[in-house]
Amino acid sequence: MGFSRAARDELARIMPERRCCQLAELAGLAYIDGRLTPQGYDLIVGQAAAARMAFRLLKQLYQPYMEIRVRRRVRFSKHNVYTIRIPSQPRLRRIVGGLQGVQQRYTKGRWGRPCCRKAFLRGVYICRGSLTNPRKNYHLEIVTDSFQQAAVIQSLMETFGLAPGVVQRKKHVALYFKDGEQISQLLNLLGGHNAVLSLENVRVVKGMRNQVNRLVNCETANMDKTLEAAYRQAENIKLIEEKGWFPSLSPDLREVANLRLQYPYASLKELGEMLDPPLSKSGVNHRFRKLEAIAEEIREEKTR
Ligand SMILES: [Zn+2]
Repeated sequence: MGFSRAARDELARIMPERRCCQLAELAGLAYIDGRLTPQGYDLIVGQAAAARMAFRLLKQLYQPYMEIRVRRRVRFSKHNVYTIRIPSQPRLRRIVGGLQGVQQRYTKGRWGRPCCRKAFLRGVYICRGSLTNPRKNYHLEIVTDSFQQAAVIQSLMETFGLAPGVVQRKKHVALYFKDGEQISQLLNLLGGHNAVLSLENVRVVKGMRNQVNRLVNCETANMDKTLEAAYRQAENIKLIEEKGWFPSLSPDLREVANLRLQYPYASLKELGEMLDPPLSKSGVNHRFRKLEAIAEEIREEKTR
């Protein structure tokens, strides 16, 4: 099962304990996709999980008479459309009043209890949210139908310290997160603890991989530099030898020159340890610089 669907199904299995939260979650589910019609109240959703959750909450809160229809979307045949209809009946007014009461409070920025705010957001997410597999990239979004809806949800998220981006797409306005940390925070807030765990696993692995890559790059760069220097030292010594200057070198210089030719890949530190008495890395480097200067002189001679 896909990451997105698993997260949604997990969230849709949570039944809030308190009545205030149950109503808030139902209001969240119906926030974008619910409407009053001449026949009653329709909730038309594209996610089976959303339809299931709405049905359970309505039953729990109001026990209304409901009709449920599943229709295959013609043009986008992969998805079904679920309609939960509450036909006109005596308790319809109370149901609509309850839903609109919560929605209007949030539209006016009267946030009330955090428990209800979370439940409302969960309802919205179950209906309209989706999540990209974090192995690919971090992306969570909630698609709304208007800037006003997006603004309400954005402000609601901000009460929890979350800062979604907003983008317009043809007929829709989407709220999105691209930061793994914020996505994890939101899922945690909504109660999607398994989703958070899988996300965090991916984040740990990705983090480790980046770290290992950085280390490897760093070591390769250093190794390249060391090898490059060693190669240059050997070239200098060969040139000095070729031109017959080797016997005139001081014993100190001849000593490291011989070692370098014998151990072309050894580091300066390793060469220093082979000397008797041992010499520090900078001491060895100093001798190679003298050899370099002599080789440079020979090269200049040649070009003159
Ligand atoms: Zn509550």
